[in-house]
Amino acid sequence: MRITPDKMNKLDGRVCFICGKYLLNYTEKDMAYLKVHSGSTMKAKPNMYHLFSCPSCTKMAHKRCWYDVGEKKVKKGWFGKSEYILSCPSCGTDLSSKREKRVDWNRGYEIPDHPESEILELHVSDVVTWKAGSVFGKIGKAIDNFFQAVGLGSLTNPERNAVARAASNVGKTIQDVAERVFKIKLTPQQRAELKELRCQNCDAPLPMPGEFVDAVVCAHCGTAHLL
Ligand SMILES: [Zn+2]
Ligand SMILES: [Zn+2]
Ligand SMILES: [Zn+2]
Repeated sequence: MRITPDKMNKLDGRVCFICGKYLLNYTEKDMAYLKVHSGSTMKAKPNMYHLFSCPSCTKMAHKRCWYDVGEKKVKKGWFGKSEYILSCPSCGTDLSSKREKRVDWNRGYEIPDHPESEILELHVSDVVTWKAGSVFGKIGKAIDNFFQAVGLGSLTNPERNAVARAASNVGKTIQDVAERVFKIKLTPQQRAELKELRCQNCDAPLPMPGEFVDAVVCAHCGTAHLL
């Protein structure tokens, strides 16, 4: 099932339970390959990657993480050959039958025994569109007239630097920051009267920003707030 940019908000800020990185972040090694029968390898076009949830505990991870960590080698008896089985690293449920071989990643590995309808397909071009804030940037979702949600990719360099500094204050890097950033528009007077600040994503209390601080990042969910 292809996830289009308008549905990506549901994945915003959520992390892969295996690698701990954001589900909307990917690396070259997450990229899908096609099953090619000639024996050669071929990358899927357009560039895409996939996510899969454990049907038992519902935890979600990159398909590549399932391949790297979920595929277990089990021995058939003491001297028997090894077989592969996909099992959930979180709840331990076996999610596939035992197979003699595992299809290599670059030969078009697929989550075994689960139909494509259970797999989320993310096209890199869609993710880039979403991250560039073309959805949020245009809608400019205003909350309580004070907050505006924008995409991380739409920030100016000084804003991005402020977010990076705020992230390091809570032991994170810019890579950990959620793609949806909240801009807070306060007059100096309103800012002086601010008594408490809560994360606009998860509602956790945020540290009160000092007078010269331009950004605060939620230590809990990694959502940045620009002041
Ligand atoms: Zn992962
Ligand atoms: Zn599970
Ligand atoms: Zn938060």
